[in-house]
Formats: sequence, structure tokens, C-alpha cells
Amino acid sequence: MVHETGYYDLLGVSPKASAEEIKKAYRKLALKYHPDKNPNEGEKFKHISQAYEVLSDPKKRDLYDQGGEQAIKEGGVGGGSSPMDIFNMFFGGGGRMQRERRGKNVVHQLGVTLEEMYNGTTRKLGLQKNVICEKCDGYGGKKGALEKCSNCKGRGVQVKVQQIGPGMIQQIQSMCPDCQGQGEKFNSKDRCKNCNGNKVERKKKILEVHIDKGMKDGQKITFNGEGDQEPGLEPGDVIIVLDQKEHPVFQRQDDNLVMKMNLKLVEALCGFKKTIQTLDNRTLVITSQPGEVIKHSDIKCVQNEGMPIYRDPYERGQLFIQFMVEFPEKHWLPEHLMFQLERLLPSREDVMITDDMEEVELSEEDVRTQQKTYSREAYEEDDEGPRGGVQCQTQ
Ligand SMILES: [Zn+2]
Ligand SMILES: [Zn+2]
Repeated sequence: MVHETGYYDLLGVSPKASAEEIKKAYRKLALKYHPDKNPNEGEKFKHISQAYEVLSDPKKRDLYDQGGEQAIKEGGVGGGSSPMDIFNMFFGGGGRMQRERRGKNVVHQLGVTLEEMYNGTTRKLGLQKNVICEKCDGYGGKKGALEKCSNCKGRGVQVKVQQIGPGMIQQIQSMCPDCQGQGEKFNSKDRCKNCNGNKVERKKKILEVHIDKGMKDGQKITFNGEGDQEPGLEPGDVIIVLDQKEHPVFQRQDDNLVMKMNLKLVEALCGFKKTIQTLDNRTLVITSQPGEVIKHSDIKCVQNEGMPIYRDPYERGQLFIQFMVEFPEKHWLPEHLMFQLERLLPSREDVMITDDMEEVELSEEDVRTQQKTYSREAYEEDDEGPRGGVQCQTQ
């Protein structure tokens, strides 16, 4: 029983979301609200991180489901890590821990179609980044012309004294605006004209992102050292996170593909031949077995027509097809022909009517009860479908 859903709402997932769905939701929101991209949404970024920290840990999630935020606070398990730590743990360059003199990593999301992940492709991505100024080699001006800043006398900070009450003064220390805290600066004639003394310039860099067959949603592609350059710092990495777009026909489940296929009643009962357009534009023909009856929601599979396996692309997962049997509309068959159909169908069961039974009216479903049924169905559906548990049998 879930009492509180605030953390789930923050991530925009249902309280029944799988660990995978929670990860995905965090990934999208964290990238959107990261202070680099959205400096005014710091609070939102913090809340998303808190929610993810709790919901990504099965023990904490249990605790939250039972007792809400209060239980997390009382259990002393919340708020352990800073939002940035959580972000870096999630997106960071794996084992490469942030070294001291290293610029920060930059994370970008790249929308990719299922076709691109199936066939592999190369995408060009233009990024703006700071590079060491070519003209002055990152020095900022004429060699040897650096002068002590006269504003702060080389200390890099300025101190202001402020009266905050009768007989009370406060010293406020702030970065020297003249030299940006460096303590030294160039006078205007010695300053590098190209970078205006900033030592770095903004340049466009094109990255070629190779999307290999079978890559997955959320997969990271790291460009080592392609982050912003800064004198005296080893540049951080650019990390591209793949974001798979929805496909109108196929849903992906790991290396398997899942699709729905409509069948007419006649096809379900008397057999069918159907075609499927694959993600690499081949046409598959599937045929039912003679004598086979396909029931509504039945799932069949085709071996080796799922997604290519990453780094082993000649192997593929399976294609699951869930059949949706369409029944004919009412009055499709003139009543006088009905008996012919009935003769062919498996016989019906006779019911004996006795006096102590009650005859009631059968009408269309009432709107209120309908809504109840629908909401229940919506939940039940989450547990069904060809997820994980379905096994494809070899014939
Ligand atoms: Zn200064
Ligand atoms: Zn320069």
C-alpha cells in the first residue's frame, strides 16, 4: 500500500514504476534541470535528486512507501548525498574519479530513433566549448607583461567594511572584480585581443557520435578530454547519453522487440498470412499453423528478429507479436444465416431455467461502473504483457 507519492510525482512515474523506469525518469529530468542547463531551477534539481536517491534504493523506497518522507527523515537515511554527487555518480565516467585538477564533465542527451539503434549510424553533434586561446596560448596577454592588480594589491580579494548597527561593523570579503581574483592583470594594451584576457575562447566543435548496432536507451558514449579547456586544468569529458525515441510499431524490451498485430476473427479462426516491415526495411511473412486458433492477446514470437546484440550484432533478440483479435460489429450477419454459422462452431451449453430463477435485463455497461473497471484494468495491465517473463519456444 502506497501512502505518499510525492517522490514519484517529482519523477513523473507511477508508484508501481520499475527500477528501470525510475532511472530513466531521473536521467531525463536531471539533464533538463542541471544547473548548467537551467541555472534558475536549482531547487527543482535538488528535489529530483532527493527523490531519486530514495527511490533508487530498494530499502529506502520500501521505507518511503510505508511511511512517506517522515519515515525517511526519522530513519536517518535521507539527504546523504549532494545533488551533484548523485548526478556525477549517475552520469560520471565510471571508474575515473574526478581528479583534483580536472575540469568538470559535460553531459548531453541525444535523441535516437529505434531504427538508428537497430542499424547503427554516425551522428554529428555541434557543441560550443571553451578552448585555450590560440593567439596567447592561454596566457591572456603579452608574455611578462602581467602586472600586480592595483585594486586589490595582488590579493585577489577586496574587503568592504559595512556598518550593520550602532557600533557594529561587518567586513565583507569578495572577489576583486578588476582581476577576477587573480591578483594580477594585463593593462589594456598588453591584453590579448583575441580572448580579451580570458585565456580561453568559445569555439564550435563537431563530435562524431558512433551509434553502434544494439546500443540501448540511456547508454553513455564518453569523449575523453573534450570538455571545456582551462589553463592548468585537465579538461573533463563530454558524455553523450542516448535517449531512444518512441517507435510507432515496436517497443523494445532489452534485446527483444514487441509489437501488436490486429487479426480479423476469420484470420484468428481459419488461419492467416501477414507481413511485418522490419527496422532495416525487410519484409517478413508470418503464417499461422494449419488448424491453429489465435486467441485475443495471444503472444507468439519470431526468433532472431529482435534488436541486434550490442557488440555481437549478428546475434539478435526475439520479436514478440501480441495478437489483437477484432470481432465483427453487431448485425454483421443476417439473422437467418446465423444458424449456419452456429452449426460450424463448437456447440453451446444449454441452460435449464427453473421457476425459482430470476430473469434480469442485460444492458450496456453503466458509465460509473465502467470507469471503475477501466482504472482497475489500467493497473492490472502493468503486470501483464510480454515483459521479462515471456519465453519464446523453439519449434
Ligand atoms: Zn585585483
Ligand atoms: Zn588570447
